[in-house]
Amino acid sequence: MALIVHKYGGTSMGSTERIKNVAKRVAKWARAGHQMVVVPSAMSGETNRLLGLAKELASSKTDASHDRELDMLASTGEQASSALLAIALQAEGVPSVSYAGWQVSVHTDSAFTKARIESIDDARVRADLAAGKVVVITGFQGVDDAGNITTLGRGGSDTSAVAIAAAMKAAECLIYTDVDGVYTTDPRVEPDARRLQTVSFEEMLEMASLGSKVLQIRSVEFAGKYKVPLRVLSSFTPWDIDINEEAKSGTLITFEEDENMEQAVVSGIAFNRDEAKISVLGVPDRPGIAYHILGAVADANIEVDVIIQNLSKDGKTDFSFTVNRNDYAKATDLLKAKVMPTLGAAEIVGDTKICKVSIVGIGMRSHVGVASKMFRVLSEEGINIQMISTSEIKTSVVIDEKYMELAVRSLHKAFDLDQPTA
Ligand code: ASP
Ligand code: MG
Repeated sequence: MALIVHKYGGTSMGSTERIKNVAKRVAKWARAGHQMVVVPSAMSGETNRLLGLAKELASSKTDASHDRELDMLASTGEQASSALLAIALQAEGVPSVSYAGWQVSVHTDSAFTKARIESIDDARVRADLAAGKVVVITGFQGVDDAGNITTLGRGGSDTSAVAIAAAMKAAECLIYTDVDGVYTTDPRVEPDARRLQTVSFEEMLEMASLGSKVLQIRSVEFAGKYKVPLRVLSSFTPWDIDINEEAKSGTLITFEEDENMEQAVVSGIAFNRDEAKISVLGVPDRPGIAYHILGAVADANIEVDVIIQNLSKDGKTDFSFTVNRNDYAKATDLLKAKVMPTLGAAEIVGDTKICKVSIVGIGMRSHVGVASKMFRVLSEEGINIQMISTSEIKTSVVIDEKYMELAVRSLHKAFDLDQPTA
């Protein structure tokens, strides 16, 4: 008998019929003798619906008092789905109780709409478990020191589940979702993508930050920090499949690079179309230039991703970086208004039709020539690389958006990701 946390995403909770299925599945685990904590998302579409209503009413200039109300509002989606699940469990004959974040309590800071969990009191939950109840806890939300309801950012129920699993030292946290695991790449782009049986925590972290949408990145950070055993699996298998089979399905996030790990050099290809490139041309090449340009961008709360500075010629250099596409206009306006005049930069040019494609694998640490193979594959397809960035376990390139699918598919094949691993 173990303490297990299940997390169900919005699609899995999308209708009363589906909630009934979730209840049957959870009941199966409880009857197998496990202590069960379940963390649901809001029913699919509900968070968007609620935030859409707020948008209709909000003024164009919003502040923290507005964000406080957004959290008050958005948190109701999970409150409803949690109560519905507890009702469905009771109907299955399983004693169950649901709690909102503030009732547990899940303590967060006060950063409304993107709060961070600071601590979780588990006394109440433990007492219920000891009394034989399944405890349902709302995902996505917590409470700050002043008693305000907070939410954790979109997709935040993953983080709730992992944080609760960490606080309660659960044997495993199972993330049930509408895909059956973590894939070598998005199967919508490459139909030959394969499900990974295991993926290391570091690879998962890179994939999440590089555009894979399977898990909220903060939940992966949390899992890494507290070494929470985490599994991503499908909620669309029949609820009555054999529990031992179910417990081994999906993708397990692992922490050791042990011999059981799949030994591929590259484990996955990630991509995203969310970025835009900005180049500041003809800036004087002298100390402080990067700070002058990127400092101004950072001060405006705009995140910068890939950065390159060219060799200088005649004392001038070009400087390029990428930002989120949503921040593109703001960043270029700011550079034109504030940075160009003081810097004497000749020109600012931009491109929003770019994408970033990355290869990820802990095997890259111990193998040479992986990045050069990536560059060769792209050159053979006639794809021009505009920017490159690397870390120990990934290489990313910025290329023209129109070649994204071609790049993903040819890299997937070149690194044998379509081949079953031994
Ligand atoms: N309901 C929230 C959202 O849609 C949290 C979650 O689903 O994880 O972002
Ligand atoms: Mg999600």
